[in-house]
Amino acid sequence: MLYVIQKPPRPTLPVVGTEDLFPVRRVYCVGRNYAAHAREMGHDPNREPPFFFMKPADAMLPAPAGKTAELPYPPKTANYHFEVEMAAALGTGGCDIPVERALDHVYGYAIGLDMTRRDLQDEAKQLRRPWDLGKAADHSGPTGPIHPAAQVGHPSRGAITLIVDGATKQSGDLADMIWSVAEQVSYLSGYFTLQPGDLIFSGTPEGVGPVARGQTMVGAIGGLGEIRLRVT
Ligand code: MN
Repeated sequence: MLYVIQKPPRPTLPVVGTEDLFPVRRVYCVGRNYAAHAREMGHDPNREPPFFFMKPADAMLPAPAGKTAELPYPPKTANYHFEVEMAAALGTGGCDIPVERALDHVYGYAIGLDMTRRDLQDEAKQLRRPWDLGKAADHSGPTGPIHPAAQVGHPSRGAITLIVDGATKQSGDLADMIWSVAEQVSYLSGYFTLQPGDLIFSGTPEGVGPVARGQTMVGAIGGLGEIRLRVT
């Protein structure tokens, strides 16, 4: 059996402190999961059910620890926004996973950026169209190495920050998530059979904003180190 075109490589993320790789299957992203961010986007942060969108797995851009990765600025936008988020990486999957068992399925955690062509997302919202042009740009998911839960536990509180050229733009706390990682896993597993290799981006705190070519972003989460990206 031959492939009629070259088989695309499976996207991977390194596991911190090892030579091992985590293969990425799907990337689910939760929207408006911090109350202050929901408000800044013009929404009432009452505890409505969570909602999700997806990024292509090959939008993951590995951001190695201790280095500055290059993030290409995408076409067709004049308002490319950062959203710093904690990403949960599933080691096992399932459907209808109860909240109490959900964290058993999380292999580890990473810092991710849900980069967003905000102008295209805003247009899609107005026209009641899907968000893909805003959310699924090439390289729109720069993500740091995976920290195994066996080492760092399951972070439920701690600072989550994003700095652009030395100025703090986002400064939140994981404890301010409206829906916890366990609740996200459980809820999603009612709609999809989750699989090993799935990532779940868990939402961003307030302070999202644009970056320009030449700027450097540093995203950090307590216990997960930091990632550095220069926009090119
Ligand atoms: Mn987001």
